[in-house]
Amino acid sequence: MKRAFLLIVVSLLVLLAVLLFNTLKVKAPNETVIPLPVFESALNESEMTARLSRALRFATLPDQPQAFDGFHDFLRQSFPLSHDALSLKTFGHSLLYHWDSGTDCAPVLLLAHQDVVPVSSPDAWEHPPFAGVVDSQFVWGRGAMDDKGSLMAILEATEALLADGRAPACDVWLAFGHDEETGGSEGASRMADWMAEQGLRFGMVLDEGGMMLPGSTLGIEQPVALIGIAEKGYMTVTLEARAEPGHSSRPPAKTAVGDLANAIAALQENPRPAGLSEPTRKMLQQVAPYQPFAKRMVFANLWLFEPLIVKQLAGKPETNALVRTTMSPTLLRAGVKDNVLPATAEATINFRLAPGESRESLLAYLEEQLPDSITVTPLDTFLSDPSPTSEIPSPAFERLAGLARSLPEQPVVAPFLLIAGTDARHYQPVSDQIFRFMPVALSQDDLPRFHGHNERLSRKQYPRMVRFYAGVMLGEE
Ligand SMILES: [Zn+2]
Repeated sequence: MKRAFLLIVVSLLVLLAVLLFNTLKVKAPNETVIPLPVFESALNESEMTARLSRALRFATLPDQPQAFDGFHDFLRQSFPLSHDALSLKTFGHSLLYHWDSGTDCAPVLLLAHQDVVPVSSPDAWEHPPFAGVVDSQFVWGRGAMDDKGSLMAILEATEALLADGRAPACDVWLAFGHDEETGGSEGASRMADWMAEQGLRFGMVLDEGGMMLPGSTLGIEQPVALIGIAEKGYMTVTLEARAEPGHSSRPPAKTAVGDLANAIAALQENPRPAGLSEPTRKMLQQVAPYQPFAKRMVFANLWLFEPLIVKQLAGKPETNALVRTTMSPTLLRAGVKDNVLPATAEATINFRLAPGESRESLLAYLEEQLPDSITVTPLDTFLSDPSPTSEIPSPAFERLAGLARSLPEQPVVAPFLLIAGTDARHYQPVSDQIFRFMPVALSQDDLPRFHGHNERLSRKQYPRMVRFYAGVMLGEE
């Protein structure tokens, strides 16, 4: 009895010692700061803002080809040095620029997209969405954050570097797709195919996706710069239930609508398993040193606390999406009249695939969960497996992190899993160092502006974006 008690006490002490040892071992990671470049020919901030405002007036929507043509003319006029020094190749409305450095080190590829999502209710906007209104603090308009702000800042950076007579250390490529919001099959996908044919291999690819957010997002005091090192996959399926059509006065035991409802309920009650994927694990480890002691102990001992953390993350929709493949029923179709039983009922379900999931494993799960009477058909638009995870630490990631740390917010840099999709996934065949980050600081309240109302970009932050992208292009000087 006494021995058993002693054994328990000793085990607990050993456990405590291990937990403490791991916690105290946690040190602030590499915090190298790479200063943002300074320009001799000082950036003219009001002219830059005016150009961004004009860029937002082109309603570059999928069904507006003339808006893309106008936008291209505008870019040529606005950035004469860049259009002189860089070669330009077009793929439909997509633009691919090449800045030849004369060296043969691994080139850098910067991505942004020209297209924007439609505006559902313009009246809900404080300023008209395609007017490019500039007030004392912001430039307002559809595309300001997603993604013309980045596109314009990248070209401002090339123009400013050229005006200063500076050249990048390695070749720089700029790929501006025109159909990111509808899957990128005509733009990014074709540009990436062409690059692969040319044998191009990039040391770094940078796209939108991450940003700076308040530290409270990850439970710390300092702001965090989240750099995406992977993104989730995307698959949409339709579920179809069939039954005998007939009069609603004598319904059979099984109806198409009832069957379909049961199928959706079964999927919601049996979600895909949750777990910490590599990017999320790395994110937690990276912010561990900045956590208060108790949390640091938890993050430093994932071997023990992983189930606890996963459970906590799975408890909220925003973090649940980080730990598992999610499903969203989005469309329903059935019936024509209130007293007629429909022969078919159909639901559209959108899945976002977590790393480790594949289209095959998801279809196998659907087969297992659903009865034979439900037909599952994957839609072939926008299909993608989760992206591979870019290996870090790496020189490319450290460069981005170093530049991010020199932004005025002095953020803690952390890798993360992007739960949305970007054009970056199309470039996997030409690089394994793909990152998703836009150098702007936003608040949680700003996030609904993406694809929502009142999209805007801070005037104060815009010149910093330009300097950040210039720093990425210059590489090691
Ligand atoms: Zn975007």
